[in-house]
Amino acid sequence: MPSIFTKIIDREIPADILHEDDLCLAFRDIAPKAPTHFLVIPKKEIVSLADLTDGDESIVGRCILVASQVAAKEGLDGGYRLVANCGDDGGQEVPHLHFHVMGGRKLTWPPG
Ligand code: 5GP
Repeated sequence: MPSIFTKIIDREIPADILHEDDLCLAFRDIAPKAPTHFLVIPKKEIVSLADLTDGDESIVGRCILVASQVAAKEGLDGGYRLVANCGDDGGQEVPHLHFHVMGGRKLTWPPG
């Protein structure tokens, strides 16, 4: 079942897109938890980190590289956090693998 993020990939619903390539898409989170908060998602429909399989290395690697490059373009020179919530216990709400990038303020640790 395609998630809302597949609809963003397919341009069926709008998003503030920051980057797109053959493997992944980066766009601003609709409900930001930090002054800068964007998501990087693979175009491939992978539900979560727990569903990665051999061969997905290039996809995950590209997502993380894009996270770093977009963070630099967004001016997150003071640092930022990269988070992937996985499953119910991890607090994942959208069943399409995504990496949160949050920055622009001092973040606390550990998360709740
Ligand atoms: P999760 O809790 O699954 O790790 O995070 C899902 C994230 O997706 C949340 O931060 C939420 O604000 C964001 N989100 C949910 N629906 C939409 C949407 O339609 N558009 C955008 N841009 N972000 C969304």
